[in-house]
Amino acid sequence: MDPHVIVIGGGFAGLDAARALAGAPVRVTLLDRHNHHVFQPLLYQVATAALSPGDIASPIRWILRHQENVEVFLADVTAIDTSARMVTNDGATLSYDYLIVATGANHAYFGHDDWAKRAPGLKTLDDALEMRRRVLLAFEAAERETDPVEQQRLLTFVIVGGGPTGVELAGAVAEIARHTLRGNFRHVRPESSRIVLVEGSPHVLSTFPEKLRAAAHRSLQRLGVEVRTSTVVTAIDDDGVTAGGERIRAQTILWAAGVAASPLARSLGVPLDRAGRVAVEPALNIAGHPEVFVVGDLCAFVQDGKPLPGVAQVAKQEGAHAAKNILRAIRGEPYQPFRYFNFGNVATIGRGSAVVDVGRVRVSGWLAWLFWLFLHIFWLIGFRNRIAVLSEWAWSYITFQRRIRLITGSDEHV
Ligand SMILES: Cc1cc2nc3c(=O)[nH]c(=O)nc-3n(C[C@H](O)[C@H](O)[C@H](O)COP(=O)(O)OP(=O)(O)OC[C@H]3O[C@@H](n4cnc5c(N)ncnc54)[C@H](O)[C@@H]3O)c2cc1C
Repeated sequence: MDPHVIVIGGGFAGLDAARALAGAPVRVTLLDRHNHHVFQPLLYQVATAALSPGDIASPIRWILRHQENVEVFLADVTAIDTSARMVTNDGATLSYDYLIVATGANHAYFGHDDWAKRAPGLKTLDDALEMRRRVLLAFEAAERETDPVEQQRLLTFVIVGGGPTGVELAGAVAEIARHTLRGNFRHVRPESSRIVLVEGSPHVLSTFPEKLRAAAHRSLQRLGVEVRTSTVVTAIDDDGVTAGGERIRAQTILWAAGVAASPLARSLGVPLDRAGRVAVEPALNIAGHPEVFVVGDLCAFVQDGKPLPGVAQVAKQEGAHAAKNILRAIRGEPYQPFRYFNFGNVATIGRGSAVVDVGRVRVSGWLAWLFWLFLHIFWLIGFRNRIAVLSEWAWSYITFQRRIRLITGSDEHV
């Protein structure tokens, strides 16, 4: 019988690992706790009512439907026993010859887990829908509020974290307030909303070159976003946020800071870094276990003295590399060490504005935004999604509208 490869996680890393095993003499089982793969770089667009969940996600078994050597199970993996080569999921166990762990990471609250209820993070479709609900509900509550001071609190939005996700969220919330909702209310002016982006380090988009960081900062200011850099959040409560000693009264707080690796890493019994990520060997396997690979956001891989960032390209390249190393082992060849090829960085700051740092090209503004747009369309999985997203973006670019302004879900998270 062909060797059995279990892939845990159908994100960028797990999916590319499974795809790299297409047609190979292996049996692949992919396990994921969700039945769909999410294109996380566009989650903020679902959170800000620009796209629908179905536009950025696809069922994993549909994506892999033509790959006959793969079976997909909807399963929550709770433990890995590397000595017995067993994976426990939903009470059942599966044995493997090779294992690829690609369960990713989640947001972290720097030891303040109690902030999670007031300041939801963005990782899953459910998170995005919850953010959308809170942003839209704040405007509805302000419309009914008669006290002007409380009205201003309801129209204040704080985004914590000035990385790409925080910058994208701040830009999109500003657009909703200044353009999309303008003229839709009778008792409040949504365009008078206050949007504050709080970042602990001295710059937003700190991984970008200085020139592009400055361009992003200016774009945010043009959208009326108050950018607070070198400002650390010390308290979050029902009334608002304390940041850099300042009290900001706000109804809506969105969290885009901090990363903690999937807790499954702990059951591997190997050293983890501060974010809980797994230290791996050059071939991406864990020490003492050439048959167990860890890839994607869960993996702490150091290249040229620096840890690789938690981005989709790293995850995809690591996933494919681990799979190819498994095929090398099956052919009796030695493993190849992994080396990441960096294609560059892109981030958008709202309508018609982005920064692109690809090779020697460092541009900001409208051209950068077009590049960002087509890159994301190209990356999306599924022809239908590409067409749907492109037409949705074209529509909202022309009309300033966000069609998916639906308040759904319940109050149970609040
Ligand atoms: C809001 C947001 C915006 C981003 N924007 C960008 C961007 O613009 N560009 C960029 O390059 N990167 C971006 N990233 C980062 C990028 O999405 C990640 O680096 C990438 O998704 C990591 O891939 P992964 O496969 O390691 O993990 P994930 O894609 O997170 O996949 C992990 C999978 O494992 C599954 N899983 C987790 N635990 C279990 C378990 N116990 N049992 C079964 N299944 C499990 C999950 O359901 C998920 O499907 C963004 C991330 C977020 C959250």
